[in-house]
Amino acid sequence: MSENSPNPESLAWGGLDRHTLSSTAISVVIHGVMLLLLALVAFPKHRIKPDFVVMETVVVDNPIAKSDDNFEVQPPKLIENSVNNLANLQPTTNVIAEQPNMLNIDVNQNELQARIEAEAFLGQDHREGDFAGRSEEARTILVNAFGGNASTEAAVANGLKWLAEHQQEDGSWHFDHRGDKCDGSCNSPGNLNRATVAATSLALMSFLGAGNTHLKGKYKPQVERGLNYLMSVFAKAETPGDMREIPSGNSAFYTQGLATITLCEAYGMSGDRRLLKPAQACIDFIIDSQHPEAGGWRYRLGEVGDTSVVGWQVMALASARLSRISVPVKPRKLAERFLDSVQLDQGAYYGYTGPEKKPSTTAVGLLSRLYLGWTPDRPEVKKGVAYLSSVGPSRDDMYYNYYATQVLHHHGGPEWVQWNKVMREQLLETQDRSDGHAAGSWAPRDRHGAAPGGRHYMTCLSVLTLEVYYRHLPIYQRASIAGKEY
Ligand SMILES: [Zn+2]
Repeated sequence: MSENSPNPESLAWGGLDRHTLSSTAISVVIHGVMLLLLALVAFPKHRIKPDFVVMETVVVDNPIAKSDDNFEVQPPKLIENSVNNLANLQPTTNVIAEQPNMLNIDVNQNELQARIEAEAFLGQDHREGDFAGRSEEARTILVNAFGGNASTEAAVANGLKWLAEHQQEDGSWHFDHRGDKCDGSCNSPGNLNRATVAATSLALMSFLGAGNTHLKGKYKPQVERGLNYLMSVFAKAETPGDMREIPSGNSAFYTQGLATITLCEAYGMSGDRRLLKPAQACIDFIIDSQHPEAGGWRYRLGEVGDTSVVGWQVMALASARLSRISVPVKPRKLAERFLDSVQLDQGAYYGYTGPEKKPSTTAVGLLSRLYLGWTPDRPEVKKGVAYLSSVGPSRDDMYYNYYATQVLHHHGGPEWVQWNKVMREQLLETQDRSDGHAAGSWAPRDRHGAAPGGRHYMTCLSVLTLEVYYRHLPIYQRASIAGKEY
């Protein structure tokens, strides 16, 4: 990786506003894409007042015909059987903090000090909004207060190093990570070869989560080149903001959600206005693609929706708002309607395409609810959290772990303390600590066989999960505001 930090002015984003309509009819083919069950997030932070002019809503003239291919709809790898309850695993390190009742447990002086510092930090009005926790100083405070430690931060650092080592020459990342620079000793590549936008977005989210942007941070050059890659895809889209890459594939709206989150966060963190229109266009594309009655999104335009795909779009809408990009109320209300249609017990539990009680879809449903304005102290949230706590972190389903960890973090309390102890130790134990090229990455632990996302996907989700302490500020801080806005 070059150590030179390219001049921001060299970014190849000039003329973006023109969304050149060079048509790239990326056509289909996707064999057996099972789809990434990715993850991502963003929450509305208090005191955020959108202050940018909203672009005109883009009317999507649905360019994608209903696909005639017969993909099997693959529900997220749920779960029951793949989840190990690790509740009894004894953590080897101590830590931690409890939220929101920070001072109600017996703590030693260091822990108490960490919480006092965190309270002081969280009580401030941060110019950077929800992303304030990502600065170096804030990270230290929040890691100490919320249950991370030097080991989790080292794991994040090593994971980012591996990702930087596997960036392609054109700035992208691939689920088959073996490319320009890998010496071939890292096994378990993914097989979603054409989903480069999704792979690139996940990597960028991992770097952004630790405070890197194209303007600052250790990995500034990598972030810049990655954003350049996304911008090159953006510039080729026939419909402005369409980042699906393979519109007819099952990965289409996962990709759209991930790319949108990435652009919104990059804009929100850097304030670089060259990113505003692209981010807004991606958000508008998501809004225009929502099912007008059911409120969901799925693989192709016009489908009613499933919880997994909906979760990524809700996170994208939340990322936009956290980045001060305007999002109308209507799509958020519609998304709530979709969640209503798959919930059980007034919203404590969620299914995939209908009401059910499943761990991973419950995690996605609850996190979506929190971003859409529910407060962590609602009885339904508490019930759902109790359920996730009883299931515990999974040994092999990082998609579930990624969502559930965030839900538990925002909820706080003893449930979070226990969850974090198990999740944290599991991630530290399973990271590659060899001297080889795979050092710092995580191998897939997919009991179902070949993992579509492979080592790259596992590494990104693991890093993002370990960034939970500071990637987004705790949602209870925003409770009163959310109530006002919704
Ligand atoms: Zn390698």
